[in-house]
Amino acid sequence: TLPAIAWIGLGIMGSPMSENLIKAGYDVTGFTLEQRKLDRLAAAGGTPAVSVADAVRNADVVITMVPASPQVEAVVLGEDGVLAHARPGSLLIDMSSITPQTSQAVARAAAEDGKGIRVLDAPVSGGEAGAVEAVLSIMVGGEPEDFERARPIFAALGKTVVRCGPHGAGQTVKAANQLIVAANIQACAEAVVFLEKSGVDLGAALDVLAGGLAGSTVLQRKKDNFLRRDFAPGFRIDLHHKDMGIVTAAARDVGAALPVGAVVAQLVAALRAQGDGGLDHSALLRGVERLSGA
Ligand code: NAD
Repeated sequence: TLPAIAWIGLGIMGSPMSENLIKAGYDVTGFTLEQRKLDRLAAAGGTPAVSVADAVRNADVVITMVPASPQVEAVVLGEDGVLAHARPGSLLIDMSSITPQTSQAVARAAAEDGKGIRVLDAPVSGGEAGAVEAVLSIMVGGEPEDFERARPIFAALGKTVVRCGPHGAGQTVKAANQLIVAANIQACAEAVVFLEKSGVDLGAALDVLAGGLAGSTVLQRKKDNFLRRDFAPGFRIDLHHKDMGIVTAAARDVGAALPVGAVVAQLVAALRAQGDGGLDHSALLRGVERLSGA
């Protein structure tokens, strides 16, 4: 029989991901802060719980998908949390994007806890569409045997699944992912403003650009956001701001220079300061438009 799953954090990503596990035949018990998301889980065939403790009590595998490090610490290490209430020998897979240090601290806490709870960091890339279509890239840190144990679950959620190294390594790779994505969106946004100011048909231009070396998943997936100025998230600027903080700090720690990353981090921070933190990260286009008086 398949392992029983507890899913903590049913947001933009967690809802469709947990539903893919239900479709694959897993029993999923979920907890999140919004009642309507718990109702959605029930409608999809899952079991809503009333707390983290309630959700994890009978689970073999606990998956967390919450916004950032403080929420992972609260959910995992808190009094009502995963380590206090999960079954001995269960596997905790944190799929949130957080600092590598927090992932390492969670793994240490689990090891010191003595209940034999195993831990993997397994952040994802591919956005809401990747979550819905179960084609996420999943970057994993932790022990090889725990990775093997989680493999069937990952297979139901994603397409490209790679163990990158020890605890925290998945987060380090995700930080690099976020650097590349933000810089790519920023470059596309600059191209959009340039093209429009030049009087070129934007739809035609983006179509042909997408087929050449400038083509990217970012351009494909965000093209309609750019064309329609539709900045409903998606992936919120607030979350990308968090990720730019993670990658710039991690790069500083190891002495890697990120000149473009540093500028893009400032542009993301500026959008947030201007009240656009709740918009999709394709709203970097708004920032370029403001700079260009467009
Ligand atoms: P979201 O804000 O839509 O969802 C977060 C969920 O966590 C919410 O449902 C909230 O209720 C829940 N939560 C927060 N604190 C909690 C607590 N203490 N107990 C229980 N539940 C709690 O965020 P999202 O877009 O789904 O992103 C989740 C994570 O995945 C983030 O780390 C993000 O960086 C990462 N991520 C997001 C995307 C994307 O495109 N949205 C893509 C890849 C990775």
